Amino acid sequence: MSRYFSKKYETLEPYVPGEQPRDRRYIKLNTNESPFPPSPKAVARAAAAAEDLQLYSDPECTALVAKMAELKGLQPEQVLFGNGSDEILYLAFLAYCDSDTPAIFPDISYGFYKVFAESLNIPYTQVPLREDFTVGVEDYLNVGKTVFIANPNAPTGQLLSLGQIETILRGNPGNIVVIDEAYIDFGGESAVTLVNSYDNLLVTQTFSKSRSLAGGRLGMAFGNAALITDLKTLKYSINPYNVKSMTMAAGLGALEDEEYTRKNCQTVMENRTFTTEALRSMGFRVLDSAANFILAGHPAVSGGMLYSSLKEKGILVRYFNTERLSPFVRITIGSKDQMEALLAAVKEVIQ
Ligand code: PMP
Repeated sequence: MSRYFSKKYETLEPYVPGEQPRDRRYIKLNTNESPFPPSPKAVARAAAAAEDLQLYSDPECTALVAKMAELKGLQPEQVLFGNGSDEILYLAFLAYCDSDTPAIFPDISYGFYKVFAESLNIPYTQVPLREDFTVGVEDYLNVGKTVFIANPNAPTGQLLSLGQIETILRGNPGNIVVIDEAYIDFGGESAVTLVNSYDNLLVTQTFSKSRSLAGGRLGMAFGNAALITDLKTLKYSINPYNVKSMTMAAGLGALEDEEYTRKNCQTVMENRTFTTEALRSMGFRVLDSAANFILAGHPAVSGGMLYSSLKEKGILVRYFNTERLSPFVRITIGSKDQMEALLAAVKEVIQ
């Protein structure tokens, strides 16, 4: 830290992204990326867009917004794109949280919520997940705070039903409820269908997982037009060209190939069932997951031990060294071959 760094950040603990090691080739099951390449249509459109890189990108993402609005049955004014859903979530913290309206989210959830709150000096409450790692809906009713719920939650993979989301929305008529649907395409029911019924609902999604565009950095928000206007006011005050033109083109290509996305999600879900059952038959506790990852722990090996033994064998998974998560590792669901390699390595470790 330099002596010039603002005192307000002295104790800030930044978000720690999953490892992206370059020292050797790993089977990478640690950051919930897709095992499949982007759609050829996304790649072709991005390559064509490279020819026009002398121009700034379209700050309104007009073509992409129009296509997405059509797919979701919304008006273009109800859609906003960002540099990953991380940026959209950051805008939501800026727009809807302050010392009068703190943030509230589960104690075990996406780690960035806490980092955003701390970096912006926003007071926040972390509500413990229930004993079975599910989100207790009743904990989020009439809280007088801006609610952030990842659905499915991370890193548990547990899903709330649309009915439960509606209960939270009805229970907070005076506050915004942000539903972070980064993993919704792997078996959950999206709250985007509720956007026209609840003016306090903001839904965020991403192209990073189901659409294989993590490196493109493309995320979006859905909400009523007034909420999208709020977020745009902030976007235009920070970085109008937040979505790069090649990324926008890749996103459009991906949306022109929804069948490719659907098939990949189907494969991931099949591989998730296969891996979950195999691990359970080896004595693992595996939480039911509606995401492209599973949280798994074995009574005979700690999460830390499992993580390092698998790393030695060339397989990267994610380990969270916290009280309730330390018995587990989070494993991204990859291709069938990757899952077979994982299971073979796990078998050796627990023997
Ligand atoms: N929300 C959750 C729950 C996540 O796990 C992630 C991925 N790290 C994100 C949002 C952000 O994804 P991206 O910025 O790649 O869209």
